[in-house]
Amino acid sequence: MTQFKALGLSDPITASLITMGYEKPTPIQEITIPQILGSNQDLKAFAQTGTGKTAAFSLPIIEKIDLSRKHAQALILSPTRELAIQIARNIEEFSQNMKELKVTAVYGGANIDEQIRSLRRGTQIVVGTPGRTLDLVKRKALSLEKIQWLVLDEADEMLNMGFKEELDKILRSTPKQKQTLLFSATFPKEVEQISRNYLQEPLEVSAGQKNTGAANVEHEYYLVSDRNRYPALKRIADVNPSIYAIVFCRTRRETKDVADKLIADGYNADALHGDLSQAQRDLVMNKFRKKHLQMLVATDVAARGLDVDDLSHVIHYKLPDQIENYTHRSGRTGRAGKKGISVAVITNREKNKIRPIEGKIKKKFVQKMVPTGQEICEVQLFSLIDKIHDIEVNEKEIKDFLPDIYQKLDGLDREELIKRFVSIEFNQFLSYYENSRDLNGDDRPERKKPGDASFVRFYINQGKMDNLTPARLMGLINECIRKRDVEIGRIEILKSFSFFEIDKSFKEDIIDKMNDATFNDRHVIVEVTSGQKKTRSQNKRNKWGRKNSKPGGDFSFHGKKGKKNKRSKKKKR
Ligand code: AMP
Repeated sequence: MTQFKALGLSDPITASLITMGYEKPTPIQEITIPQILGSNQDLKAFAQTGTGKTAAFSLPIIEKIDLSRKHAQALILSPTRELAIQIARNIEEFSQNMKELKVTAVYGGANIDEQIRSLRRGTQIVVGTPGRTLDLVKRKALSLEKIQWLVLDEADEMLNMGFKEELDKILRSTPKQKQTLLFSATFPKEVEQISRNYLQEPLEVSAGQKNTGAANVEHEYYLVSDRNRYPALKRIADVNPSIYAIVFCRTRRETKDVADKLIADGYNADALHGDLSQAQRDLVMNKFRKKHLQMLVATDVAARGLDVDDLSHVIHYKLPDQIENYTHRSGRTGRAGKKGISVAVITNREKNKIRPIEGKIKKKFVQKMVPTGQEICEVQLFSLIDKIHDIEVNEKEIKDFLPDIYQKLDGLDREELIKRFVSIEFNQFLSYYENSRDLNGDDRPERKKPGDASFVRFYINQGKMDNLTPARLMGLINECIRKRDVEIGRIEILKSFSFFEIDKSFKEDIIDKMNDATFNDRHVIVEVTSGQKKTRSQNKRNKWGRKNSKPGGDFSFHGKKGKKNKRSKKKKR
């Protein structure tokens, strides 16, 4: 505890930290606590959930707050109701020995009058979601005039959730003289913009390790076809009988769909997504926290603010589009010194997402094989045996029934009894997995990267001025060659002509069939062009023209790849 004292925190706070079991500061706390205690400089911190960031900004604010005054001195903005409540609870715990300190959480989906009453009673720290906070400011129930500390927690997530306008309005209602502390796990340009607009020469700090748990996380993937994704998920759950996992999906619909299937198949699972009412969300989260659910199927946004320390697995039913979301998701396991596994279920077409993630997390994925029915049965059998071995027998309750039970089972020897007891549960797995299929592998080809050597690049004499769009071009290609699953790579729609890449095996088809086509009453011309990617300016210089240009068209067509074509002298449209 001396370590917290050495950072400048006083006895009432360090005493509460002892009660809470905090032994030493985390890296971000080591930096921010003395910094905020000793300076009014703004701060821009790179920190994810799990790094101890809540204490990193709360402890020095609590230390400096003027307890003799009852007005709001600190405003902490957070993206979700759950996170706001969690921060307020943490602050209550940190200040358990400071009875004069009051904290109020304000968030949507709850009675506003009660929150107004709480604010009127006097509170020094307000933790709120942007929407409700602004509402309270507008109703004059919350005055930001005397705010000395403004914390933007999970700034990236607040912006992701569309709170930009609210943030701007709230930030403009706060006094110029204050200390602003911005915490974010990622720094896309929107966050940088907020930082530029509202922070003055901030000190930039990083939590060092991106996530306290990251080192303990192993990353695995299972390669399956799309139709085997759900059966593979079930096998992953079955081969881990004590699984406690969040299963991440990309859409609400998918989340609901996967959860419904799991429930119908007898798993302890439920869904967490944006369509649920607040009461339903609370119910699901509580069930999961209490481990009454083994698997929580969730979208990235809905799972925000759900702080669970001992997840055994994070499962990416579908990988996210943004790598940051992968690190966010996987950082939810492997916490508090425990091992965690981050599992991606991917198809061939999603395989190219793995390499960039590996680059970011600086770790390699291990490809795992979806377990066979036999492997699962074996694991389940021994898990059952362990359960029987470890079960606590309630001697008192069972005592009266034992004579009758012994009598009924008379004549069965030890071996026979064991076999029968074990079979009660095991038979269900045996019959389910009898004749089970191999789920590994995906026949569909991998999605090629734009510029891939197996693509061929075409020029087409149609462009923006012909109202060509990528969607229309894809429609035209499909219509001409009448084949499904034609892989199309990069499409570049320029002013009067365009380029597209297509799977090499369709090269002849494209030449034969598209050159017969018309688009917007104009004859279509396609030509194979250089396989290498050209920049737009090179393309302009390339002077590919159009044969049937409309009157006033800016290029005339002069022939094949490699030839220097003369640009028409006609004026550009
Ligand atoms: P946070 O990043 O603020 O969400 O914190 C993640 C978890 O770490 C929470 O459960 C905190 O209570 C816990 N925590 C934060 N700081 C410390 C510390 N110095 N020692 C032990 N646990 C901590």
